[in-house]
Amino acid sequence: MTAFDVLAHRIAVAGAAEETNVFAEVQATLGLDSGPASADTAMAVHRALLPANGFQFGETPGRRGLASTWARGDAHMTPFEAATPALALLRATVHAVARRHEMQRREACTACSGRGWTIARDGGKHICRHAPIPEGDDPLKRRTHDPVAQQDRAADS
Ligand SMILES: [Zn+2]
Repeated sequence: MTAFDVLAHRIAVAGAAEETNVFAEVQATLGLDSGPASADTAMAVHRALLPANGFQFGETPGRRGLASTWARGDAHMTPFEAATPALALLRATVHAVARRHEMQRREACTACSGRGWTIARDGGKHICRHAPIPEGDDPLKRRTHDPVAQQDRAADS
């Protein structure tokens, strides 16, 4: 689980009353300051992190938020639910950024060369955790002071 996944989960389980706190946490973690918790801020965060993507968001009949983000050429959109429309768009955005980050780590990985797995000693497939991205190339690790991320880095090197 990466820091992005932790963030996406935090947004998914947050109640409407936590919206303000969650927006502040997400923006602090991502090094953004797009504004207070609101639909406008969720859109600004989406534009900042996924400038090539489109999005849509709204409300279910049960008054929950629902949002999707997609890039040109995507075959389908995955809907993400959260307590409010703004949180749902934030969740969809963070999820897309997490997937992009994972793809970049995989493509740059010197251990598996982008395959995502290596051959284990016993001949089986070993799912690759990917070599760490060099310092400075990893926007999340550059912007955060997350002791868990720093521990991961120390363990990988
Ligand atoms: Zn790898």
